[in-house]
Amino acid sequence: MSTKIIYIPIWLLLMVMCVVLIFSCTQKKETSINDTPLFTEQLKTIEARIKTQLSYEQRKKDSLQKIEQQLAMLQELDDTAFVNIKTLSDYFTLDMRYATTANFLKEAVYPCAKCYVRGSVAKALLKANEDFMKKGYRIKFFDCYRPYSVQKKMWKIFPNPGYVADPRGGSIHNKGAAVDITLTDMDGNEIDMGTAFDYFGKEAHHSYKKLADEVIAHRVLLRETMEKHGFKTIRTEWWHYNYQAGRAFKISDFRWECE
Ligand SMILES: [Zn+2]
Repeated sequence: MSTKIIYIPIWLLLMVMCVVLIFSCTQKKETSINDTPLFTEQLKTIEARIKTQLSYEQRKKDSLQKIEQQLAMLQELDDTAFVNIKTLSDYFTLDMRYATTANFLKEAVYPCAKCYVRGSVAKALLKANEDFMKKGYRIKFFDCYRPYSVQKKMWKIFPNPGYVADPRGGSIHNKGAAVDITLTDMDGNEIDMGTAFDYFGKEAHHSYKKLADEVIAHRVLLRETMEKHGFKTIRTEWWHYNYQAGRAFKISDFRWECE
């Protein structure tokens, strides 16, 4: 039995190898995941997220440093003096509803939107805001000090003790020691508290629990942080906080200036 040997020229062998090599390289390049549009898109999204997170962390760090400086400056502040909260910190948001018609009275009872509180209340609010900011939130005000004459005006429009404090007894707001607030994220977007501000129903009560876990967690965060800084809740309004040490202040009719 004879064996037939087939001789392949070396130049042909080399050529075939080159063709195979080039083909495999081209194939590899085409299928490389690094070059697919989806991968590039995902990479861009991840990069954008990292950048956003870094800038958010930096802003938070800068804000907290600034608030520490503001708190140090506030040591000199008179505890009883009325203070415009906006002059103390850039990290509060104001949405003074009684300076607009977007409130349950459907009437603007303030000449302009300002948030004044007593000095000691302002210090406590700054400290509370610092705690909120560490967790990625900030305070937004709906109402602060309310001049006594405005309390009388509100009572005239809506003489219902369930909704407005009778001017005969007055309100802690008239002493500059109560605030109506909610929380926002660091960009000022309001977070869900279950009801709108000034929603007068059982859903706004602290004891109301038929709410999403997230909403309850927001209310608890607000309450626990405010209580830590000397504020107390009232049963029926998740947004209202009385500064306990400020209850001793006298009812006032100080009127703020409008530009
Ligand atoms: Zn209130």
